[in-house]
Amino acid sequence: MFFSFFCDAQQEYFQQRVNYKINVNLHDENSSLSATEEINYVNNAPQALDFIYFHLWPNAYKNNSTALAKQLLWQGKTDLYFSKPEERGFIDSLNFKVNGKSVKWEYDKEHIDICKLILNEPLQSSDSLIITTPFYLQIPNAKFSRLGHTDQAYYMTQWYPKPAVYDRTGWHQIPYLDQGEFYSEYGSFDVKITLPDNYVLCATGDKVINADEEDFIKKKISDTEKEIERRKGIKNEASTEDFMPASSKLFKTVEFKQSRVHDFAWFADKRFYVLKGELELPHSKRKVNSWVYFTPKNLKLWKDAIEYVNQSTTFYSFHNGDYPYNNVSAVDGSIMAGGGMEYPNITVIGEVSNAMELEMVITHEVGHNWFYGILGSNERDTPFLDEGINSFYEMRYLRAKHPEIKVAALAGKDSTFKLFGLNKIPYWKYQEIPFYVNLRARKDQAIALKSTEFTTSNYGGIVYSKTSLVMDYLMDYVGESVLDSAMRIYFDNYKFKHPSPNDLFKTLEAFTGKDLRDFQKHLIYSTDHINYKLKKSKRQEKGYALTLKNKTGSILPFNIYAYDKNNKVLGVHWFDGFADKRTVTLPEEAHHFKIDGIDRMPDINRKNNSIKAQGLFKHERPLRFNFLSSFEQPSKTQINYSPVIGGNFYNGPMLGLALHNYGFYEKRFEYLVSPMFAFNTKTPVGFAEFNLNFYPKSVFRSITLGTKAKTFAYDFYDTQFMNDNLGTNFKDLYLNYYKIAPYLKFEFKKKDPTSKITQQITYTNNNLFTDSLDTSAYQTFAVSGPIKKNNYTFINQLSYDLNNTRTVDPFRFNFSLQHTGSMAKVSAALNYQITLTKKHAIDLRFFAGAFLAGSLEERSYYAFRASGYNGWHDYAFEGNYLARNERNGVGFSQFMERDGALKVWSPLGQTPEWMTALNVKSPKFLKIFKVFGDVVVGDARALNTDKFLWDAGINIVFWNEIIEVYIPLLYNADIKKTLELNKVSFPNTIRFSFNIHKLAVKSILQNSFF
Ligand SMILES: [Zn+2]
Repeated sequence: MFFSFFCDAQQEYFQQRVNYKINVNLHDENSSLSATEEINYVNNAPQALDFIYFHLWPNAYKNNSTALAKQLLWQGKTDLYFSKPEERGFIDSLNFKVNGKSVKWEYDKEHIDICKLILNEPLQSSDSLIITTPFYLQIPNAKFSRLGHTDQAYYMTQWYPKPAVYDRTGWHQIPYLDQGEFYSEYGSFDVKITLPDNYVLCATGDKVINADEEDFIKKKISDTEKEIERRKGIKNEASTEDFMPASSKLFKTVEFKQSRVHDFAWFADKRFYVLKGELELPHSKRKVNSWVYFTPKNLKLWKDAIEYVNQSTTFYSFHNGDYPYNNVSAVDGSIMAGGGMEYPNITVIGEVSNAMELEMVITHEVGHNWFYGILGSNERDTPFLDEGINSFYEMRYLRAKHPEIKVAALAGKDSTFKLFGLNKIPYWKYQEIPFYVNLRARKDQAIALKSTEFTTSNYGGIVYSKTSLVMDYLMDYVGESVLDSAMRIYFDNYKFKHPSPNDLFKTLEAFTGKDLRDFQKHLIYSTDHINYKLKKSKRQEKGYALTLKNKTGSILPFNIYAYDKNNKVLGVHWFDGFADKRTVTLPEEAHHFKIDGIDRMPDINRKNNSIKAQGLFKHERPLRFNFLSSFEQPSKTQINYSPVIGGNFYNGPMLGLALHNYGFYEKRFEYLVSPMFAFNTKTPVGFAEFNLNFYPKSVFRSITLGTKAKTFAYDFYDTQFMNDNLGTNFKDLYLNYYKIAPYLKFEFKKKDPTSKITQQITYTNNNLFTDSLDTSAYQTFAVSGPIKKNNYTFINQLSYDLNNTRTVDPFRFNFSLQHTGSMAKVSAALNYQITLTKKHAIDLRFFAGAFLAGSLEERSYYAFRASGYNGWHDYAFEGNYLARNERNGVGFSQFMERDGALKVWSPLGQTPEWMTALNVKSPKFLKIFKVFGDVVVGDARALNTDKFLWDAGINIVFWNEIIEVYIPLLYNADIKKTLELNKVSFPNTIRFSFNIHKLAVKSILQNSFF
């Protein structure tokens, strides 16, 4: 039965063959190549071809409108977009001939890194032809992507004209991209590289024997070994900058040959150290040479790298099938932009910070020889077949070799490093982190998408991480040896071919004997989530009856582990998936049970997986306190704590404790409570926040019902005058505010997840309880001292926010309607940044606002303010002011850029009618300086003789949008008069913003690290 399936598949499957002969000269004086290429193209398709698509991928670096430049920009990388012409690269001097005759060819209309050869006569099925062309390559700077040079170090990848894949679904002409590169035809390469003879050269394939080159490499290896020995004794060596030697005047030509590969890459560096090793393949016992190449700077890091190459090659061979080539190499590419990247036989390794990380990256990249090199699936369309499956084996390698090392090692710490619970997660489990960050925020995407459809964070968190977790869960279910034998069959049947997801799952189904349709439906082709819950346990005559609930409806098999009270496993039972509710019986006399006992299922909520067999609190999870925050431990109720300090003019210094459950993953219920003690007023103060997140299926990513609360003193009644005159001894009376603001927030789901636009609507009900002096009790002040009363007001706000975080010209827009029972005002603000260069931008802000209703008195209280908000203008108590109600000193100088946002203070332009403003900030100069300019126009009654208010001056940015200082130098005449009238001297015109309320612990934890 299996047999007939494979025969069927092969009838429609075909694969072209492309054999290359390339002669190339490196001109390192100007970092260019000149070359000739001869391609033997074999048409194995059942039909004739009229044309052949070619990739000219070096043209991806030609200008800032290529697909690569656009993708890099989308990833937030602006190097290529803002590159100088001399940094870019391109391919030209092409002159295609087919069977010796000139042929018409044209660039693709959209992509200059694709062209089309129009054949003079059709290439018949089973026929072949010879295509030749010279080409010249200007090598781009290596800071952009993966083809390039840094000084005279060369990373030659995707560098030659290459036919696109033609398969049973048609042509796959694709522009070069950084995220999800490869799909290529198999064939053979014979490449002769000519370059100055002091370069160390490494490449795909076997080197054709060349006595001089052998001697040169042998000498390099012995130099390397001596240098390692010499530097063993040196403990704290000064970091050595790599010195680039001059190029030799003599040239050498080195030839490499390889068949059954789909790509050819080479690397050349005059500084490279070289180590050579050997390994024996586990199945065939054939010997393979292993090589590592690295720069002097990284010698200490790389000295054991042969071991990593050998062990990973052996590991992958054992589990999947023997490595079919003679050489396997890893190259230090830490000075290029692309990071680790795989090519047949040879992999380049990006910047790593420690030996453990180097081993992990080498393992991953060596592993790509199987999942990309030998099994040549289409990475552009189904990236999980190589990145994902390969990450699964990388994870297994780390688990087998380093079971005891914790994820703390990723941060360069040893496994006892406690912060954030990094000592609790095994290193091999690091893939869970990026996956759960996206999953719990409901920002995850389906595994089976095309590489261009993923957000950058899901390209890691789903393609790599979720695939490896899902495969691990499958292995837990079918058993390791069953999965291994299935994967060896997959390897044998599809090696040197282009397998599809269907080929993988058909093979897995056939050789595991399991129906994997639900597995694919829920875990590969959708964002369905898993959440089984253990609801009840009930004593039976023998063992227990457990009631489970499937909370998501994804019908997937699961196991239940039974444990004794020392956490020893008594039994493991697998069950088929079910929808809704089910009761199962387990025979063990267990102390507790757990679904997915060893955490292999990508269950969205592992907290409800356990239950105690007996007792009143079967779901009890013991408390665990963590400093700052911690990764989740589902078996514990985690409370995070940290000390909090603060201070303001009234309360004086404050000290307290923040307790919260904010973690790296979003939670349904989140809280932060931060009580503090104020030393001046000797009162409790503080703030708190609670929110409950709901995740509807459509329209909104999340709906949040939350409350913010805070209380501090905001003014005081000074009793000194009273005490001096009346001989009393009353204490100053401090006035407090209490704010409780429940809100409902709707964050829209993005139609296209890769979009940079987020939108949300929030409705907030600000309840303000503010103390004021009880003036009705003035007469008794002499006896009782000053008395205060508390007033209640509210102001509600409906706001719509749109934020476009695109790399060039990002902007955000806010519309808000504020109202009380009788007053209503609307305003809109657009903050638009004009990006000029990589580091320079002009900031623009447009503001407009008007009142819709309210008495003049009420509107005056909520007036639009030309000079932004001082503390006493902040009627909703949004900001944190150091001296909220003081009209001099710090209280006078601190402001928030609201409404007109003039940086200079003026009592002018406080309008109960309408206001518009334009605010401009120049690009930064001298690192922290900007020039600002503002113009405000409002209702004429709020102005004097000048029709509009304006100012200009210097802005010092200490911390963008958090701590900034403004020095107004120029302003209109009316403002000048008001400053003179109010006796505001030049130093007092300097104002600052201190927007500490914009720093949210929760979003820092959940958005900054991943
Ligand atoms: Zn990879």
